[in-house]
Amino acid sequence: MKKDILSLDLTELTSEITASGLPKFRATQIYRWLHKVGVTSFSEMTDLSLSLREALDDSFVIFSCNIEKKLVSEYDSTMKYLFKLHDGEFVESVLMKYKYGYTVCVSSQVGCRMGCKFCASTLSGVVRNLTASEILSQIYAIQRDNDIRVSHIVMMGMGEPLDNYDNVIKFLHLISDENGLNISMRHISLSTCGVVTGIYKLMEENLPLTLSISLHAPTDEIRTSMMPVNKKWNISQLIKACKDYTQKTSRRISFEYALVSGVNDSVDCAKKLGSLLKGMLCHINLIPVNEVKETGCKESSPADVKRFAATLEKMGFAVTVRRKLGSDIDAACGQLRRNTIKNER
Ligand code: SAH
Repeated sequence: MKKDILSLDLTELTSEITASGLPKFRATQIYRWLHKVGVTSFSEMTDLSLSLREALDDSFVIFSCNIEKKLVSEYDSTMKYLFKLHDGEFVESVLMKYKYGYTVCVSSQVGCRMGCKFCASTLSGVVRNLTASEILSQIYAIQRDNDIRVSHIVMMGMGEPLDNYDNVIKFLHLISDENGLNISMRHISLSTCGVVTGIYKLMEENLPLTLSISLHAPTDEIRTSMMPVNKKWNISQLIKACKDYTQKTSRRISFEYALVSGVNDSVDCAKKLGSLLKGMLCHINLIPVNEVKETGCKESSPADVKRFAATLEKMGFAVTVRRKLGSDIDAACGQLRRNTIKNER
């Protein structure tokens, strides 16, 4: 079987290259083509001899993402990509333009097994993990397609990053490597539904990224009804892990809270959320839930969102209401893949 060359860091690639009798500088050259230029075939590596390019092609494969579909929002130029992987599976990524630069939202798995009731990515479970290279190549493909440089990454696409731990950590090292795209960890957010064991592992890595926690409810009763993962690790275990995380890394945590009408958007919920997070170094990000037909979840009214935010602000929290980018193009991850698979069948 051919080796997945894009998942190798420079040290690993160097040992592969020198083991085959080639000089070390060849590895640096190849790594630059792969990660700085973002080529998708060995034939594009024009400063290598034809025989070397052929030899590389015999031993290695470059996992790239092929654009199956691309939707551009008419409102805000957000772009949503549906990528086809080498085995025919699909993943989604989103490109967003902000004042400070381009952000890509990447997927970490094909599907998801976490079962959150409001989410389209998990409706048919998980198919497989993505390799580090497949997470990287979502970004490389988007850069190539738009001739841009991406500056920020959010791991908020399909999948649960901490359920694909090793590949995600590998990806984080590759994307922030100075020999590659060199994106600062400070410009990366990783979002989890609350895989507590993963949070403890992550704090040991001591990475300066932003950890986002999809909390979505202030009580176990409501949270369990929305997120089955809460049966495995309840709110108090999750909050304890978050406090330990901040203690260990001194990093501010971002709590995500999707407002679902009549479920978790009352003033009482806002107050309970406030007392739960009291004293923590954190930020609260409110998201009016994106309605997905199959889930039956209804978006909270603008008045309820405002009231919820105001209650928390009065309690002293830093609160933002997420701007809905790309609402006309199913930008909530999981919907595009789902519709494509349905149409194919
Ligand atoms: N599995 C990870 C990351 C992927 S989802 C996690 O759960 O955090 C990224 C964010 O989008 C999460 O906060 C998730 O709860 C939220 N989300 C999923 N479906 C949504 C929907 N329909 N509307 C609003 N937010 C949604």
